[in-house]
Parts: sequence; C-alpha cells; structure tokens
Amino acid sequence: MLYRLKQLRTQLPTVHLIAVSACVFILGLTLVMLPSQQVEATRGDIPTPPLTVHAVIDGADVDNVDQKKSTTIKHATTTSTVIEDTPENWTSYTIGSGDNLTSMFYKAGLTARDVYNAANADKEGKAFSRLYPGQTISFLIKDGTLSKLRHTESKLKQTLLISTNDGYKVEVIERTPTTSHKYTSGTIRDSLFLAGEEAGLSSKKIMELASIFGWDVDFVLDIRKNDSFSLIYEEKYLDGQKIGEGPIIAAQFINRGNKFTALRYTNTEGNSSYFTPEGYSMRKAFLRSPVGFARISSRFSLKRKHPVLNRIRAHKGVDYAAGTGTPIKSSGDGKIIYRGKKGGFGNVVIVQHGSSITTLYAHMSNFKRGQKVGSRVQQGQVIGFVGKTGLASGPHLHYEFRVNGVHKNPLTVKLPEAKPIAKDERSAFKSTASTLLAQLETYQATTLASFQH
Ligand SMILES: [Zn+2]
Repeated sequence: MLYRLKQLRTQLPTVHLIAVSACVFILGLTLVMLPSQQVEATRGDIPTPPLTVHAVIDGADVDNVDQKKSTTIKHATTTSTVIEDTPENWTSYTIGSGDNLTSMFYKAGLTARDVYNAANADKEGKAFSRLYPGQTISFLIKDGTLSKLRHTESKLKQTLLISTNDGYKVEVIERTPTTSHKYTSGTIRDSLFLAGEEAGLSSKKIMELASIFGWDVDFVLDIRKNDSFSLIYEEKYLDGQKIGEGPIIAAQFINRGNKFTALRYTNTEGNSSYFTPEGYSMRKAFLRSPVGFARISSRFSLKRKHPVLNRIRAHKGVDYAAGTGTPIKSSGDGKIIYRGKKGGFGNVVIVQHGSSITTLYAHMSNFKRGQKVGSRVQQGQVIGFVGKTGLASGPHLHYEFRVNGVHKNPLTVKLPEAKPIAKDERSAFKSTASTLLAQLETYQATTLASFQH
C-alpha cells in the first residue's frame, strides 16, 4: 500500500485532467460506502488500472495550498485502497478496421439503447467519434448496464465515460511525457541515408534532417564523400521508457566544406521553424521542386524538339517524370488564379505569389478537392496530382516559373528568401539561438574529444 501511494505521488505531476467533474468524487465515495458483501463478491477480478485512480487524485485542485493538497492525497489514499479491494471486471477489445462505437458496444453485449445513452452524455459528440484500429476500448459492465467505458487512444491519452447518479460523464485523461535531448553525428561515405542509419537515426529523422537543409543542399546531386552532419533532437519518455521522438532542435550540415546551421525556434504564436544563427529562415520562399523524389525528364530550353508535336519548340519549364497520382505541391505561398483545362497543358493550376511571380503546373490527372480559383494555398500544400492530360507522352509534371510574365528557368532562377525572424521576436530568438548553438558546440567538442582519446 505504501509503495502504491509512493507510485501515485511520483506520477501525479505528469497527469493532467482536462475535463474534471465532481462526479469522480461521488464515484469514489460510492465505492467507499459500498457494503462489504458487494466488495467481497467482486474480489479476485482484474484490478482497476491505475489511471482511473489518478483521475480521482487529480480531480481536486492540485494547485491549491499545501494543506488542502494533503487532504487530497489522503482522500486519494482511501479511494485507492477501496478500489484495490474492489477489483473491477473490465473487458477490453482491440479496435479493428471498420469498427465504430456501436459495433464495439455490440461486441461487449450492450444494446443500441446503451450506445444512445453513452453518445448523449458527450454533448459535443467528439469524445468517442475517432476510433482507430489498434486502439483499445474497455467496458466495465455491472448488472448488465454500462458502468464505465474507457477508450485508450495512446499511452498518453484515455477518454472515460463514467456512469453517475445523473447520467454519464465524460473525462479525458492526458499524460505529458518528459523530454530529453539526444545528440548524434555522422560522416557520409555513400549516402545521407546510410550515414544517418549508422548514427542511430530513424528514417523519419533522416527525412526531417534532409528537409531542413533541402533548400540549400540537393541530397541527390550535391552530396560528397566526407560531408558530415550533427544534430540534437528530442526524445520523449514516459515512466522511464522511451515512447517516441520529438523534433530536431538544432542541426549542422557540412557540404563540400560549406557549413549550414539550422536552429529551431517557436515564435510567440506557437509556430516553429528553422533559422540560421543570424535569424534567416532556412526555407526559401519557393520549393526547389513541386514533386518529391521525381526525376527531371526535360529541362528549360528555348530550342527543344517537342516529344509529341515532333517539332522544335521552346520548352519554357521543367518536366518532372513521376507516376500518375503523385501529389503536386504549390512551390510557394499564394493564391490559385487558374484551375481548369488549357489546351496542350491539359489540366492546369496557376498560383500567384505576391505581385510579380506566378507558377504553373500542367498535365494534372486530377485537381486537389476542396480548392477553387481564389483559394489560398501554402508552400508545400497539395494542389493536384501528376497525370498526362493534354499533349504529354507519359505522366509528368510540367512546371513553369514566371516573373512579371517572363518565363524563368525554375532550376536556376534566384529564388527570393523567406522572411527573416520578425523584429519583435529578435531578442527572444537570439537567446534561444545562442543556447542551442552552445549546446551543439559542446556536444561536438565532447564527441571529438572522445574520438581522440
Ligand atoms: Zn514540359
């Protein structure tokens, strides 16, 4: 018991209760006041998962003065004792594809009436609407009626439905993982991917690293042997166990002797992005390519033999060969000014960026649903899909970049920089940046020293 209380205490700060209701206490009290025979009757069943107990503890205002806090703990102790002595017979089901709340209720032997009552308890109707395969739903049924329902979304989030004297109440229990920093570095021999794997990075982290530096370094064409990288990223822990990874917070990439440094900064509006130590955005105002991992099949040329028309014609854009259906992204923030058929271009989207630049995307198989002329799009937002509508010998994206109506080569045009850090964020950024930079340099020096020993 003492051990259990200790365990509860240590877990207390990590538990946050979004929807706290007094009913939890009523429930607690009801359990305390249960006649001993009833307690006896259910003994030996599966004990209540500790999270339910946490809810009871957190149900009181944790921020209250110490005196009140100690009362809370005391209350919790009593409750937890009783719950331990009154094990509850939960039945858990793993959600399969095609399951919904109703089908789960039927599996548990409940009726449509029960589904209706439970769904009615949640005024906004959101709590149990998103059930995904692999998650669990647990039922506590007493005397044929639903006493509690628990939807375990992840290790970090559970939603409870609890029967009270005045109907069902919904509660959301969220836990916050602790975060720590992880440093790693590597030198490229064959590819960034292999070097990243050797450095212990997941493929997702390698992609993240590549996308941070993707505006400055072409990871297919520019990479050389002995290019190197180092980075600090977040790791998330819950009860001492690693449960996931957070974003890269600082990184450096040395490509052919050129050093690029990226530092993550979250502005006062809560948006995070990467900046150079001087406060310039790592991202440019335009993506290098509107399709990921595509092969350039035809470059910008004023004299090219047209593959379908078979005569010399200027090719005022770049062609990217990619499979039909590959998503096409807007290369910059802007507004759709044309969306429809346009002669040999087939299905076309034209995006206006600021006052002078437009980009054109041709031969699309389909447009992205939900957008129209006038829609605002962000850099990287999907606007359509690769196809071969119009005059095209195979599925590809024909991409044009025009400045004041004049066609420019998208591969060589000097792209405008994205905005630097806002003026009123400068001092906050500087302090974050110097801390991150110092951390990165300390790690780098330590790693270097350990190699030299
Ligand atoms: Zn073309």
